[in-house]
Amino acid sequence: MSKKIIKVKRLPKDPGPAAWNRILTPEPEYPALSGDVQADWVVVGGGFTGLAAARRLAQLTGNDSIVVLEAGRLADGPAGRNSGFMIDLPHELNSETYAGSHDHDLQQIRLNRAAIAFAAEMAEEYEMDRKVFDPCGKVTAAGSDKGVAHIESYRKHLDELGESYELRSALDMKDWTGSDFYRTGLYTPGAVMIQPAAFIRQAARGLSDRVSIYENSPVVEMSLADDHLLTTPRGQIRAKGVILAVNGHVQSFGFFPRQLLHVFTFASMTRALTQSEVHRLGGVEDWGILPADPMGTTVRRSSNLMGSGDRIVVRNHATLNQSIEANESNMRRAAKLQDRSFANRFPMLKGVEMEHRWGGRLCLSWNSMPAFGEVEKRVWSACCQNGLGTVKGTLSGMMAAEQAVLGSSEMLTEFLDHQQPKLLPPEPFLSLGANMTMRWKEWQAGIEL
Ligand SMILES: Cc1cc2nc3c(=O)[nH]c(=O)nc-3n(C[C@H](O)[C@H](O)[C@H](O)COP(=O)(O)OP(=O)(O)OC[C@H]3O[C@@H](n4cnc5c(N)ncnc54)[C@H](O)[C@@H]3O)c2cc1C
Repeated sequence: MSKKIIKVKRLPKDPGPAAWNRILTPEPEYPALSGDVQADWVVVGGGFTGLAAARRLAQLTGNDSIVVLEAGRLADGPAGRNSGFMIDLPHELNSETYAGSHDHDLQQIRLNRAAIAFAAEMAEEYEMDRKVFDPCGKVTAAGSDKGVAHIESYRKHLDELGESYELRSALDMKDWTGSDFYRTGLYTPGAVMIQPAAFIRQAARGLSDRVSIYENSPVVEMSLADDHLLTTPRGQIRAKGVILAVNGHVQSFGFFPRQLLHVFTFASMTRALTQSEVHRLGGVEDWGILPADPMGTTVRRSSNLMGSGDRIVVRNHATLNQSIEANESNMRRAAKLQDRSFANRFPMLKGVEMEHRWGGRLCLSWNSMPAFGEVEKRVWSACCQNGLGTVKGTLSGMMAAEQAVLGSSEMLTEFLDHQQPKLLPPEPFLSLGANMTMRWKEWQAGIEL
């Protein structure tokens, strides 16, 4: 194979702290890659995708050596910044109601459930606490007429798919959350709520018996030949096979040009509530709500894992940043929206400040397709999770390992039944158009935001 050099154009930059990670007891660092190392397999990226790929490789390859290279600290990237909903049902962020077409949705459900089962095996094997991995289902809820209409159309869609659900009244919602904001909720049983940073850390720790993990080891160059050579600031690694599990940053490696949308979304987390604030709030200890309107606000209450305190997290706002970096004004706007959403839902917690505010990357494609497959000889991409990386990342990591080792499998055949990510419109029309559309949809979401 003739040699080809890829210089990595950009490294990940995440605005604000990964609060879910920050509130846990600090963990010792994994070493940074140094010197010259040889391995059979290198997985680049230590999020949901990278860890799933490493685990599946370990299951499939017996004694092959496997390395994970993470640019920063584990759980400091998007994997430790998300809201922690592992959703089995269709969750198309580009659609008005999360739904796609019927057959596609049935297929997505089968695949998503296989990924959740794979994550559940990790949770069991690595003895994760129920507060880290909780198969409690999910609730989608509405606080306005428009939101109620969204719930109704979501409910009809679930009927068509033959999926079970339960409707929750305004009173049920108040008993559960303490807030009287919500007029109705729709519960579906198949989702899992995770503490995302704790899940990533514990999955990595469990894997580290079998897989060598390096933190603070960004890949800055790849030289592709019979043995691929990956360079990081302090070391190099040679490997036969490489899985890129870097989500949108696969574009920084030169792959999928003009096919990926780099969307940021943002969140705020309160300081730990005092006992009297917890009492004033009411409701149960741990819960999470997805907004009926995809442009609305996700809210979670999380209770005292590893001494982290009782806190509320609100997530909303989305911006398209094709530079793969969010800016200060994105953060300021998000903070303003989140303070308003918090005040609307929790008037009894007036005066409770936000301790952490952050943003994080999603990678979407125009037609919601993944950026998946062998992009160079023995280099596989498992990227573009279309906003549901806890599940689709896990799935694409598993599938990349299966494609690399087995070549084919039943699940892979089903997974590969997709198109390539569609080519995007040219700039500046893309960014202007997409950001204007998102602002318009946010405005239309009204009180749901
Ligand atoms: C606020 C917020 C809320 C969200 N809520 C949810 C939710 O509830 N449910 C859900 O499913 N998803 C949610 N998401 C999306 C989810 O976090 C992502 O889809 C998911 O993290 C993608 O997983 P991944 O492993 O593919 O990529 P990532 O988690 O982005 O991991 C990729 C890793 O690759 C590393 N990397 C990049 N370049 C290099 C390089 N050159 N060398 C080495 N390493 C590199 C990065 O540092 C990163 O750690 C949310 C995201 C945000 C920001």
